[in-house]
Amino acid sequence: MSKDPGRILIFDTTLRDGEQSPGASLNLEEKLAIAHQLARLGVDVIEAGFPFASPGDFKAVNKIANVVGKENGPIICGLARASKGDIKACYEAVSPAPKKRIHTFIATSDIHLKHKLKKSRKDVLQIVPEMVNYAKSLVDDIEFSCEDASRSDPEFLYEVIQLAITAGATTINIPDTVGFTTPSEFGNLIADINKNVPNIDEAVISVHGHNDLGLAVANFLEAVKNGARQLECTINGIGERAGNASLEELVMALHVRKSFF
Ligand SMILES: [Zn+2]
Repeated sequence: MSKDPGRILIFDTTLRDGEQSPGASLNLEEKLAIAHQLARLGVDVIEAGFPFASPGDFKAVNKIANVVGKENGPIICGLARASKGDIKACYEAVSPAPKKRIHTFIATSDIHLKHKLKKSRKDVLQIVPEMVNYAKSLVDDIEFSCEDASRSDPEFLYEVIQLAITAGATTINIPDTVGFTTPSEFGNLIADINKNVPNIDEAVISVHGHNDLGLAVANFLEAVKNGARQLECTINGIGERAGNASLEELVMALHVRKSFF
């Protein structure tokens, strides 16, 4: 994707993160209807699901890639953990779309590495270039996320981001996975990434955040002021736990206060 420094890309994850709302579960027809509406709305990217998670998810992503993915329509994206099986399934699911993206991720915070992944920082430094490279061999448009970025050691985060971009990542996503950060803190994190990652100009900086403290939209607006150019959001802010940043609030804030941003 060409990088226009003035343009904010809207990445909708209603069908992936939104579906993780407590009690929410969508069937294939419902997912397809939502994807059509998102395309009509003009979102830049639709994250359609997590293809490796279940055959149902694979089928939904594949169908959306087939039917909603258009040359002049949104990019169809699937989520994949940083492992070959996940990435391969994701590629197969999104492959019918003319514009397709693989979004792969790994945790970078010590707390996630130790308790969730049982991996060391050294493991991560090896896995990231290997898996981004592998994804890049399948698709050009690669997004890489540092899960739990807002609680990661910044120096380690910079190193991982640099490796991911060198291996071919075109979008770097910085998630506030646990909905923990505050606006000025998150803005500073984005500014510091811009300052300290030598090849950051080769990628679009994206943000993802949760609303546990009611700050997701405020955090994103501060991130935009500090150089973030893709916003991951959902319709009505639905999503895991307290939800995501809401698409309509973000779009309206950026529109109404255009001159400020
Ligand atoms: Zn999330």
